[in-house]
Amino acid sequence: NTALVWFRRDLRADDHAALFHALKRHTRVFCVFVLDTDILDPLPRADRRVAFILDALRVLDADLGRLADGAGLIVRHGPARKELPAVVAALGAGALYFNHDDEPDALKRDTAVGDALLSRGVSVQSFKDHVIFERSEILTGSRQPYGVFTPYKNNWLKTVNDFYLSAYPVSRYARHLAPLTDALQADLAALPASSRSHAKAATPKHHRRVPTLEEIGFESVAVNPKLMDGSDGAQRLFKDFLTRIDRYDEQRDFPAVKGPSYLSVHLRFGTVSIRQLAREASARARKGNEGAQTWLSELIWRDFYHQVMHHHPHVVGQAYRPEYDRIQWESGAEAERLFKAWCEGRTGYPIVDAAMTQLNETGYMHNRLRMVTASFLIKDLGIDWRWGERYFAQQLLDFDLAANNGGWQWAASSGCDAQPYFRIFNPVSQSEKFDGDGKFIKRYLPVLEKLPPKLIHAPWTARAVELQACGVTLGRDYPEPIIRHEVARMATLDRYSVVKDRK
Ligand code: FAD
Repeated sequence: NTALVWFRRDLRADDHAALFHALKRHTRVFCVFVLDTDILDPLPRADRRVAFILDALRVLDADLGRLADGAGLIVRHGPARKELPAVVAALGAGALYFNHDDEPDALKRDTAVGDALLSRGVSVQSFKDHVIFERSEILTGSRQPYGVFTPYKNNWLKTVNDFYLSAYPVSRYARHLAPLTDALQADLAALPASSRSHAKAATPKHHRRVPTLEEIGFESVAVNPKLMDGSDGAQRLFKDFLTRIDRYDEQRDFPAVKGPSYLSVHLRFGTVSIRQLAREASARARKGNEGAQTWLSELIWRDFYHQVMHHHPHVVGQAYRPEYDRIQWESGAEAERLFKAWCEGRTGYPIVDAAMTQLNETGYMHNRLRMVTASFLIKDLGIDWRWGERYFAQQLLDFDLAANNGGWQWAASSGCDAQPYFRIFNPVSQSEKFDGDGKFIKRYLPVLEKLPPKLIHAPWTARAVELQACGVTLGRDYPEPIIRHEVARMATLDRYSVVKDRK
């Protein structure tokens, strides 16, 4: 009657679908996380996400110990496809439990692990946990997936009820969590499957089961401490956000203001439950709280993009609308040069450069600025949205394949319910509208600190003496603009003319 729960993008001990079901049905339940070398090996050696995960695992391990004496997290370091069968065998588990992950690579991995276990008579159980509605739960009247957000959202709101929003009461069956005895840990440490087990370093005496970054071959890297502490940190952020949620609809678009929740990384790694967030938001929304209604809509966008990826896996790599793959993007050395300037925040457009600096320095970028920088790369520099998608995927702490792809294809106009291709953000007016006094720009580009609001959004329009009075010489202290928006705009309309569908 032993089961193993495999944690992946659900790094919390409460309100956890797979853990709850395993504890309810089995009397001896273990928990494992695999630092999967198939995923980790290709990453650069300094990666904020790996630091975030290890930190979250430490909190999870401690929380499991609080739920039941001696319980904790088994942490393995090796390919999941080999580690899981080995751990299942060592524990004598008859069942493996995990929550769905609908990313194409994750599905392949889960199928491989599942097949290996099923062939040995181990049952494999998986559950929805990461979203409120997944896969085909919200369909049109003719049982088709939605391609437009608003009707999807209306149906989502009509369908949702307490059943979908209530928490899985893990603590009710926590007594079924099995202790990780010293003998068991020694057995696991001796397993041949893991070529890189750290169990020896993690002496049971000190209950240090989670390895350090160095132990798994990564460099130490700074992550904003406000985003750390796993599920404890998520609860702190959410509590803080609830004091501001009423004003979310008014404040969310201004990057210098503390408007959004900053919970995306926690949603990505499941250090917070989507049910808790949606429950609180929907209770307020039903009472007419407009901030909560707008925020709930954002959570619904998240579900929307997850179901888009499930029904249309070709979006990973190709345009959702195939005709957009006819577009000829810039290429060659010049495109590489422009792309590098964009990545490094050297475009000469302060709002774009400040946003890219925020991304590079912190691993986070404000939503409005994700739209502005994505649009700039695609529709001002004429560069393939996939280049930008890849760069964001490397840099974002909250990188989520479905949301990132959805955001990039929205900006490229090639996506599901994307903005029309002829709508092209003007980076200067976006800057004036959403960072009027230049406060955000100055936070990330201190070289422009002395520029007054009338000069900061488009410094090249100022006379050289005006800039010099603020300590700035273009081309020396801050770049000249790498393109002219008006020229680029015409080139983009031309480039997109191959797209016949004019939606
Ligand atoms: P809040 O405003 O507090 O929103 C709450 C939550 O709602 C977010 O944490 C997120 O889970 C969800 N959400 C909000 N907006 C969206 C959206 N447009 N699409 C899907 N979910 C949304 N979000 C990611 O989580 N990971 C990504 O990799 C990602 N890449 C993006 C790339 C581009 C080009 C664009 C335009 C958007 C991207 N987003 C991504 C969506 C959005 O920008 C972030 O979710 C948001 O900025 C995270 O900050 P927050 O948690 O403070 O958001």
